[in-house]
Amino acid sequence: MRLAELERPAAPAELVPVNQRRVGEEILLTSPFGDWAFVTPAELGALRRGALERGSELWNKLAARGLVRSELDVAEAVAGFWRRRRFVEHGPSHHVVVVTRRGPGPSAAAAPEPASATPADMSASTAEQVVDFALRSTSPELTLALAGGEPLGAMPVVRHLVDHALEKNRAYGKALELVLLTGLAGIADADLDFLVARRVRIVARLDATLFARGAGAGHEAARAAFARDVARVHERYRGLGLDPALYHVEVELVAPPAAWVEGAGAGAALVDALGALGCRSFALSPPEGLDPQSGYLDFHRAGLGRARALGLAGAGPRERHAALFLRQILGREAPSEVAIRSPAASAVGTLAYDCDGRIYTSDTGRRLRDRGDDFFHLGDVATTRYRELMTHETVRALIFASIREAQPDCAACPYAPYCGIEPEQSYALQGSIFGRMRESFACALHKGLQDWLFAELGRGDAAVRAVLDAWSKPELRAHFVHSSVAS
Ligand code: SF4
Repeated sequence: MRLAELERPAAPAELVPVNQRRVGEEILLTSPFGDWAFVTPAELGALRRGALERGSELWNKLAARGLVRSELDVAEAVAGFWRRRRFVEHGPSHHVVVVTRRGPGPSAAAAPEPASATPADMSASTAEQVVDFALRSTSPELTLALAGGEPLGAMPVVRHLVDHALEKNRAYGKALELVLLTGLAGIADADLDFLVARRVRIVARLDATLFARGAGAGHEAARAAFARDVARVHERYRGLGLDPALYHVEVELVAPPAAWVEGAGAGAALVDALGALGCRSFALSPPEGLDPQSGYLDFHRAGLGRARALGLAGAGPRERHAALFLRQILGREAPSEVAIRSPAASAVGTLAYDCDGRIYTSDTGRRLRDRGDDFFHLGDVATTRYRELMTHETVRALIFASIREAQPDCAACPYAPYCGIEPEQSYALQGSIFGRMRESFACALHKGLQDWLFAELGRGDAAVRAVLDAWSKPELRAHFVHSSVAS
């Protein structure tokens, strides 16, 4: 048969433009508005031949899912499209502040220094300038995430920054959240009292090998110590009468191969270990630049499977990356986190500040400084004006490079309405802010997670759907929001 004789697919005129992907036995169709439906291979064959008869079973199914033009609520579709991108109108809301470059422990060395000598700790005056700069953001919501190194090693500046932020925000009245990103190890009672009294959210950042089975006596001791520290935090939250389902130590885990070399069972064991500690929310990530062909995705999906099983039994933790995707897939809401936005959050949604007050487009961009690459440096808190920063040519380039619909692979991907890739990460790993999605581990991870989520949604199991609906709801921890001039 000659090429010219092959039947050419011709989508029905009534079908909204869709991208497709096989998920399990069925084919997922998604529209640019984020509407989605599953069709069978036979139904897809009919659509390819242009067959979509008004009133047919297929018509009714697609119309109910927003995929038939004449039955689409255009006003609602447009409103939903903008709701998902609400963040582009708000300005940077997430501010990562590196208060120290020193790692955990009294004798720990600072992170590798860039060519220009950076102080190991942020000074009190720089901390004030960072707060003052962040408060100039046009965003009505503001999160100051205090990071390191290990910020517990620089508590004098943490305390100063927190108090300065609370005092200054009395005039601004923004919905302000203060977050400490810490390994938590051996947190002093006085520091814990301070953080709890100032309503600072505590997020534990850990290496997931801590929870690997058979990791040895050293790990056993470290795990027991972590459990004791978590219990101390939870005890204080309980003392304040806070709901343990919402108020607990949130955990961010980076999982190098040593954490999952045992296979998928390690993912389930990890979720069980976190659940036993009362940690009801966790985020799992691979180390940057992992080979997409590694077994990481199986490990991650096994963890999700275990969380779903525990959710079915009534008490499952939620994994944050999955919850973020679900929030967009099911909730038609903008991602609260900055990592999966399109266009990217770079500067317009997030900023990062190094110890010396230098400002970067994101924390990923800031970390490149340690490799001697200041490509994402925008200015500093002492001299740069907010407007200069927002209109910086680097920011414009990052926004342009990160629009999913403008990426060759993403334009044809059904997950584009819910997905985003940090251009700084593409630059760090592939040398290009546009990135090459076919070789991108971030893309492979996002695709793998969304495959898992849509496979679960496609099962049509009401109980599973209820668990996924619950994961998709934002966790509103009002206690941590300092919102009024009186707070
Ligand atoms: S990054 Fe990957 S998963 Fe996300 S939209 Fe692009 S191709 Fe799809």
